[in-house]
Amino acid sequence: MLMPGPLELAIIGLILAVPLVVVVGVVVAVVASRSRGGGPAGNLIPCPDCGRMVSPHAVQCPQCGRPMQVSSPPPVGDSP
Ligand SMILES: [Zn+2]
Repeated sequence: MLMPGPLELAIIGLILAVPLVVVVGVVVAVVASRSRGGGPAGNLIPCPDCGRMVSPHAVQCPQCGRPMQVSSPPPVGDSP
């Protein structure tokens, strides 16, 4: 009977662990890249008028000057 020694067990462990680490790394990288939005524009939003990608924090479009209004809820609860 041949009993595997600790060195052989370590080698077998490495052979089994290396592909597992690679697969997990690839899956994590794919999930991380998908969760970013999957676009080169990042967080930019297109201007409704000229289509230029504008930062959502911009007050107005730097190209055409259109005011970039963030969707604000209409005033409610002020009617008698
Ligand atoms: Zn614009």
